[in-house]
Amino acid sequence: MSETKRAVVLGAGMAGILAAIKLRETPNVDVVVYEKSDRVGGTWRENTYPGLTCDTPSHHYTYSFARNPNWSRYLPPGPEIQSYFEDVAERFGVYPLTHFGEECIKAEFREGKWELEFASGRKDSAEILIAATGVLHHPNMPNIEGASDFKGALFHSSRWDHSIPLENKRIAVIGSGSTGVQICSALAGKVAQFEHFVRTPQWIMPVDNAPFTAEQIASFQDPDVLAEAMDFEGYSAAVNAYTEALLDDQSEMAQQMAGACLMNLEQSVQDPELKEALRPDHKAMCKRLIFSPDYYQAIQRPNTRLVRSGIKRIVENGIETEDGELYELDIIVYATGFQADRFVRPMDVIGRNGLSLNTLWADYPKAYLALSVPDFPNFFMLNGPNGPVGNFSLVEIAENQWGWVEQLLEPVLSGAASEVCCTAEGMITYEARREEAARKTVWYTGGCNSWYLNAAGIPASWPWAFKDFEAAMANPVWADIDLR
Ligand code: NAP
Repeated sequence: MSETKRAVVLGAGMAGILAAIKLRETPNVDVVVYEKSDRVGGTWRENTYPGLTCDTPSHHYTYSFARNPNWSRYLPPGPEIQSYFEDVAERFGVYPLTHFGEECIKAEFREGKWELEFASGRKDSAEILIAATGVLHHPNMPNIEGASDFKGALFHSSRWDHSIPLENKRIAVIGSGSTGVQICSALAGKVAQFEHFVRTPQWIMPVDNAPFTAEQIASFQDPDVLAEAMDFEGYSAAVNAYTEALLDDQSEMAQQMAGACLMNLEQSVQDPELKEALRPDHKAMCKRLIFSPDYYQAIQRPNTRLVRSGIKRIVENGIETEDGELYELDIIVYATGFQADRFVRPMDVIGRNGLSLNTLWADYPKAYLALSVPDFPNFFMLNGPNGPVGNFSLVEIAENQWGWVEQLLEPVLSGAASEVCCTAEGMITYEARREEAARKTVWYTGGCNSWYLNAAGIPASWPWAFKDFEAAMANPVWADIDLR
């Protein structure tokens, strides 16, 4: 029998919970999870803004081994997702494996083991290191002149200050990504005044986010009924159609998606001036497509304004725009997104021969299949650089990725090898192919700027069909793998 190996999972969000559950079930593995915060949930713990919703159908935003019949509506509300992950962590024994309040600051591969250092001074070591540290969690705080002079409350959408009541307040939200749009839908018309500062209008795909009826929820308790409602074949066809549109902006699917967004704008907004102010100047899906049942309705509510003029500065009582207007405010929310290129950083990760991930990623982050880096043995990232992002279920993505990691770990766990990662050549060839394909996607050809683009302006995402991703995860190319 082979020796027990120790595995450390960093992060107890969606992907970390998954890795912990899978490793716990793997014979000869001793698994421990470190989480910098005091709760599981990752993104869904950090984001608590009003209107927080995931745009993936709720029944598909679950692990395949822990379906949830109890979602309240078609698109899952953030607090329900957080409860779901807490419940799964409880039911599948993740809590006893997890140390909370432990932030890993350094991981170095020395003599066959990852030596870990934590901000608390704790040390640990393990043969296997899984980074499930998330993607969008370092807030992007634009440097707007005068921000520190503001006398009201100012915070980032992912750091919502719930101690501040919203009733009768004048609120501005800066940013029109999924976050800004969802906050607008939740608050516009319900506060004294709502100002939506939109630098670049987005295409909005309408979606019916109806609550499930009590009868439906009761029927979903039967796994067969639930599976039927999830319509795996139909869902998979929709995902493939969606990727077809992303990969070729001339495709029929891309035209259909663009047409649906355009019709939504034309039919939902009455005032011609407002309609023009909301009309995007780039191709649909160039930025992450926004699914919203009611944004256009929200922006037309009373006491609600769309502000297209640039922000000149923040002053003590509001925001001054380039056209000389002063918007008097009590609360300013930066829905300005995240630094999407951080991944495991600021943690210092050092592989063989003292090579640091920071050095390797000096231009922009790269990883073989988004999972592995040469000379970083037994180190795998879930939802790492250039993986499939874009309106798909990240839970499903992480499960597929785990399928690949599991296969790579097999020789290490059986004792046939002690170190596994991709080869340097495999990584270079893969990344060249990926970048070439990425330049053909609408993220590149669509005429917009977005967090999908890396520092070199190349889309940082999986640039092939979703079914190709599933196939790649199921079938590792062993010629690209360095086993020692
Ligand atoms: P985002 O998509 O990066 O959008 C940031 C917004 O802030 C953009 O509208 C941007 O304008 C604006 N902005 C940034 N700096 C600005 C400045 N200095 N002045 C004025 N405007 C500025 O961020 P997000 O909305 O937080 O969404 C990030 C990602 O989180 C999403 O794409 C998605 O992956 C995920 N998310 C998902 C859901 C969901 O439903 N599943 C919900 C929320 C978030 P420009 O476009 O002009 O740059």
